[in-house]
Amino acid sequence: MARRTFSLHTVSGLIACGLVAGALLAVVVIGWRLALLARGAIEVMPDEPEASSAAGEPQPDLRERSLLIPVQGVAPAALTDNFNDARAGGLRVHHALDIMAARGTPVLAVEDGRIVRLHHGGAGGITVYQLDAAGRYGYYYAHLERYADGLAEGQKVTRGDLLGYVGTTGNAPPKAPHLHFAIYEVADPKRPWRGRPIDPFPLWR
Ligand SMILES: [Zn+2]
Repeated sequence: MARRTFSLHTVSGLIACGLVAGALLAVVVIGWRLALLARGAIEVMPDEPEASSAAGEPQPDLRERSLLIPVQGVAPAALTDNFNDARAGGLRVHHALDIMAARGTPVLAVEDGRIVRLHHGGAGGITVYQLDAAGRYGYYYAHLERYADGLAEGQKVTRGDLLGYVGTTGNAPPKAPHLHFAIYEVADPKRPWRGRPIDPFPLWR
């Protein structure tokens, strides 16, 4: 019986070569992405919510809700529209509103609803996913310093309830604390953390 060796002439050798080539390709691709991030982006958009279709302006039903600005003490005039800004060196569109505020400023629920997900990790850092009462729209709050005491998934919240505090967790610049706030129209109720991105800025214009 022939001895098995790792050469291109054996099946196991071919598989091993394929694995090595795949690993090298992954390293190259990841390195290229990181280089782009380092070169072009101060902040990339948090990984989620993922966009499932084209972004848009808020519809009348959302405008009529008079959503609360989710950072305590911030006036509409202090907001700047950065929804369409490039992020990640041009690899993404921001699709959210960055609200600058001092570290530790209370972050408040924009309307009544419930917490569907508390996620910690990735570019968003400490994040909250809230749905409205009907589950139609989702609200995403990212880069929090920490959660409000006792905040839990499944919890009902009322407009103005404390969710957490402004910070720089995830990929926010340490010297520029802000709330990354996104609105999305839920596409699939089983995956309520993704949907069509909607620009929050016109709601408070
Ligand atoms: Zn942002």
